[in-house]
Amino acid sequence: MPELPEVETIVRQLCRQIKGKTITSVRLLWPRTVTGCKAEFCRRLRGMTVAGVSRRGKYIGVEGVDGTFFTVHLRMTGKLVGEISSADRKHLRTQFTFSDGTALYFVDARKFGRLRLWTCRGQACPSLGPEPLRPAVVLTSLRRLKTRRPIKSVLLDQTVLAGIGNIYADEALFQAGMHPLTPAASLGEAQQQRLASVIPKVLRQAILRRGTTLRNYRTVADESGENQEHLNVYGRAGESCFQCGASIEKILINGRSSHYCPSCQKKMSDVRR
Ligand SMILES: [Zn+2]
Repeated sequence: MPELPEVETIVRQLCRQIKGKTITSVRLLWPRTVTGCKAEFCRRLRGMTVAGVSRRGKYIGVEGVDGTFFTVHLRMTGKLVGEISSADRKHLRTQFTFSDGTALYFVDARKFGRLRLWTCRGQACPSLGPEPLRPAVVLTSLRRLKTRRPIKSVLLDQTVLAGIGNIYADEALFQAGMHPLTPAASLGEAQQQRLASVIPKVLRQAILRRGTTLRNYRTVADESGENQEHLNVYGRAGESCFQCGASIEKILINGRSSHYCPSCQKKMSDVRR
């Protein structure tokens, strides 16, 4: 699933591609892609001139000059592309056509992706936590944690921090030298600071590399990202740690796979605080 860096990459490209353009038609080929009233969605978007494209967590937001605002959540296999390949045609769920004759295609093989109209930008996605791109913001969120839940699960919780998914949670915990099962509330001040400094760094590096493509994620230009070349633990179970040579392990935490180095990432009970 695209996480913050992938969605940010898409948003930047999309902004260049559709800002200032006016939507002349919306074709819903799979109506359930739209959450809420389908007719209203199409009616409000028709004639809308795009003022800007933004990101909040893993959501793409498109705002019209009249304040009309809708979000796109790509979930597992969704992608927004300016040109559609013949192979993607059968997975086309929504097509936006602009007054200049160009189009934007929402393609989604597994149909989990969602489009949603909101009253206004300020009211969209109310349950999301803060953006994890600044250490001070992340630190504030980490300091508030009173839960014994594993830190890995907490990082995936979009109400705590918005936009982190499995890849960047695993990579950040590796960079912080922290075991994914560490109880969130047991982190000392030094560990909180360490994690708060690596999370924005890991995300920003991935943005510079236009995200991580492992299976489905594609940019608006239908290209792969480059961050998959730089992963330390995610997807590397059984391979050697670049730092110490130990074999990377994979465990399930609340049903999600977690990749970590058993030597570089110690549980809090294993290290002196
Ligand atoms: Zn290691």
